[in-house]
Amino acid sequence: MNVDPSSLTLASASRRLSRRELSAGELVEACLRRIEETEPRLHAFLAVSDGEARRQAAAADERLARGEPLSPLDGVPIALKDVFLTRGVRTTAASRILENFVPPYDATAVARLRSRGAVLIGKTNCDEFAMGSSTENSAFGPSFNPWDPSRVPGGSSGGSAVAVAAGQCLAALGTDTGGSIRLPASYCGVVGLKPTYGRVSRYGIVAYASSLDQVGPFTRDVRDAAILLEALAGHDPRDATSAPIETPNYESLLESGLGPLRIGVPREYFEEGMQPEVDSSVREAIAVLESLGASVETVSLPHATYAIATYYLIATAEASSNLARYDGIRYGRRAAGAESLLDAYRRSRDQGFGAEVKRRILLGTYALSAGYYEAYYGKAQKARTLVRKDFEDAFARCDLLVAPTAPTTAFRIGEKLADPLSMYLSDVLTISVNLAGLPALSLPCGIDGSGLPIGVQLIGKPFGEAALLGAAYAYEQATEWHRARPPSLAEAAT
Ligand code: GLN
Repeated sequence: MNVDPSSLTLASASRRLSRRELSAGELVEACLRRIEETEPRLHAFLAVSDGEARRQAAAADERLARGEPLSPLDGVPIALKDVFLTRGVRTTAASRILENFVPPYDATAVARLRSRGAVLIGKTNCDEFAMGSSTENSAFGPSFNPWDPSRVPGGSSGGSAVAVAAGQCLAALGTDTGGSIRLPASYCGVVGLKPTYGRVSRYGIVAYASSLDQVGPFTRDVRDAAILLEALAGHDPRDATSAPIETPNYESLLESGLGPLRIGVPREYFEEGMQPEVDSSVREAIAVLESLGASVETVSLPHATYAIATYYLIATAEASSNLARYDGIRYGRRAAGAESLLDAYRRSRDQGFGAEVKRRILLGTYALSAGYYEAYYGKAQKARTLVRKDFEDAFARCDLLVAPTAPTTAFRIGEKLADPLSMYLSDVLTISVNLAGLPALSLPCGIDGSGLPIGVQLIGKPFGEAALLGAAYAYEQATEWHRARPPSLAEAAT
C-alpha cells in the first residue's frame, strides 16, 4: 500500500493500525522511503535506525494482529533529537566530542516510548549540545527548512521539527532550554510543546543547562501533542527535579472547550521591529480565541527586556559546569599525541568542541569566576526571580498568555552566523518561559508572503498543560493552518 506519511497524524495512524487498514511495517517503509527521497535536501537525521525500526514494526504488527496494542503509540514511527541517550545507538549531541559515543542505557523518555511500542526511527540533527537557534551549529552540517531549503529550520531541535514537517516520521522528541522546541516548531509549521519544568524526566538527556532543560514533543496537531505528553510525563526517581504529581489524561480533556478563559496579551511581546505579518497573524489568532468565548486583556511583563541577558548568563554558567565532564577520557573522542593528562584534556576539548560551544564555556566560566560571580551570575539569578514574578502577576489576572513564538519567520542559512548576538535575539520571546519554568506551546497560525509558516505561542501556568492544550485544540478546530504542508512535499509524495 502506498501511504503518504505526511497525511497522517499519530492518532489517525494509530486508528488505522488498530483496524488493520495499515500495518506498522507499511508505515515504517513509507517513512523510510520519504527519508530516502528528502534527506539529500533536508538533512534532518544524524542516524536512521532502519534495521532496528523494521524489527520494532514487525513486533508491533504481531501485537496488533492479536488485537493487543500496547498504547496509541504502538507501531508509530517517532524520531529522537540526538541528545536522548539510546541504548546501543550512537548519541552525539551533534558534537565531535561524542562522535563515537554509544550509550549503555536509554533515557527515561526513550524507555517510555519503547515500552509503549513506538518505532524509534532515528536520531535527529540539532545544534551542538543544543546550543543555538538554527541547527547551523551542528558539527555535522545544518538541517534545511522543508518550506524553503535556503532557510534555517530553527534550533536547536531543528532536525526533529524538519522530520515531522516533512513526513519522515509522525512525531519527534526535542528539548527546550530556551525555546529549542517552540522556535523550530514555529519555523517549520508544526506543533511544539515545552512542558512545565519537572513534568517530564530528563534522565538520560545530554545536559545543557539543568535548571532550564525540558523534554517535549513535535507533532502535526494538538491532539498528538496531548497523546505524547501523556506518554512522557510522570515522576521519575532517577531525576530529582521531576515532579511527583499525577499525569492528567490530556487527550480526553481536549474536548472540554474553552470555558470562561481569560487570555493575557503581553504588551512587551509585540515590539516594534517585529515582522508585520507575524504581528497580524498572531493578532488574528487572538481574535479567533476571542470569538470562541475567551476574554482578552493586555498585560505587562516589565522585566522581559532582561530575559536575553539573564538567560545567556545562567545557561552558559550551567553549561560550563555540565560540559566539564567531556575530558576525552570517559566519553567520546580522545585526542592523539598528548604529552600529559592536562594536555590530553586540552587537546580533546579543543578538537572536540565547536566554536559556539567554546564561546558558551568561556562566557559561563567567566560569569562564575571569583570576583565576577556576584556581578554576573548572582545578578542574573535576581533578574530571573523578577522575570518569574512578572508571570505570577500576569497569571493572577488571566489563565493563559498568547504571543508570537518568534519575531520573524525562518531566516536564511548563514544570515546570523557571523553575529552571535543577533542569533541570540531570535530567542527573545521564548526564553522567559524557561527562566520561569512554565509550560508553553507553539502552533501554526499563518503563512507569510515568502510562503513561510508563522507560529503563535500559548503560555500556561505551572503544570497547566491541560488548559494550554485545550485552548490550542479549540483554536486548531476553528482554523486550517495545521493542515498546510511544505510545497516541496507535493513532489516527494508523487
Ligand atoms: N537558542 C538558545 C540557546 O542557544 C536555546 C537553546 C535550547 O533551547 N536548547 O541557548
